[in-house]
Amino acid sequence: MKITEVEAIVLRQPDVDTSKADGSQDALLIRIRTDEGLTGIGEVDSLPPVVKAIVDAPASHAIASGLGALLVGENPLEIDRLWEKMYRGSIYYGRRGAAIHAMSGIDIALWDIKGKALGQPACRLLGGPHRERIRAYASTLMPETPAETAEVVAGLVGRGFTAIKLGWGPWGRDPDLDIELAAAARTAAGDDVELMFDIGLGWPDADHAIRQVRRLEPFRPYWVEEPLWPDDLAGYRKLADAVETRIACGEEEATRWGFADLMERTGVDVVQPDVTRAGGISECIRIAHLADLRGVSTVLHSWSTGIIKAASLHVLAAMPRATFFEYCVQETALNQALTVERFPLEDGMVRIPDGPGLGIEIDDEVVRRYAV
Ligand SMILES: [Mg+2]
Repeated sequence: MKITEVEAIVLRQPDVDTSKADGSQDALLIRIRTDEGLTGIGEVDSLPPVVKAIVDAPASHAIASGLGALLVGENPLEIDRLWEKMYRGSIYYGRRGAAIHAMSGIDIALWDIKGKALGQPACRLLGGPHRERIRAYASTLMPETPAETAEVVAGLVGRGFTAIKLGWGPWGRDPDLDIELAAAARTAAGDDVELMFDIGLGWPDADHAIRQVRRLEPFRPYWVEEPLWPDDLAGYRKLADAVETRIACGEEEATRWGFADLMERTGVDVVQPDVTRAGGISECIRIAHLADLRGVSTVLHSWSTGIIKAASLHVLAAMPRATFFEYCVQETALNQALTVERFPLEDGMVRIPDGPGLGIEIDDEVVRRYAV
């Protein structure tokens, strides 16, 4: 089997609100075609037109090439070798950031092809599944006021979620408002629902973060996520050493090298590689093993469409230890309708897809409607 085409398709809803930290308003779809008629699907949650350029660009020289040009004519089943080929072929402009994001979407599509070619779900080819279902946490943006927060949390509990994360929005705007929002969330959630607070880079430094995490402790956050800039590794170290509450970060980090460094230098409790940015399914499995060696939990970051959901579920199914699946509940069309599958909640859990490859189908009508 040979790869004949690597397509990068930008999808975008007509009315994007760019002031919100909501990446489910657009998407970058990867479609890899082969000479045997099999097609693989992947996605990248990054800046879509930049990723498209990285896929489509012609080769400049041996270590600065667009990724599609490196793959056409190759055997799509040799995923590790192709990962190395893309990494090496983009090393002058890549190594982290958008080039690794583009590689991630391609890696996901290659696992989809391999699963379809062998008639097996991707998680089985990765050595799993270790579980058939995984506990979901609802992931949504923090509302603006305590009253709205109570309403959103009560609604999610009513839908059957046993864990809820509230992120970005007003976090960090005012130290007292942070505490009022957390209190409203805990009152609405009751005692038995886990709450995660995603500060979305909202606190200025580690000392502020230490004070605020201590003030949040009465509301029992399961973790506090990303209070500081991703490059403030010394700040994360200071914070993680000072508080009992779990600290989570890593959604902007990429590759095994990036995560090994992050874990060594910060001592955080939870790392959050995104399968569409950190290097794909292949690299997230390697990162999860590195985390395991250090007693750090891996809870994949996953915001937006059914493709990211499916790819994340296969990685989580193939990890010996996995606690939660991040279930984005944004009501954007791309999040809700790009895949035919809707990933229904069963007892607060989501089932791992068991069809070949990623086990999902794209709704071509949605692709046509939102393609730019
Ligand atoms: Mg986050």
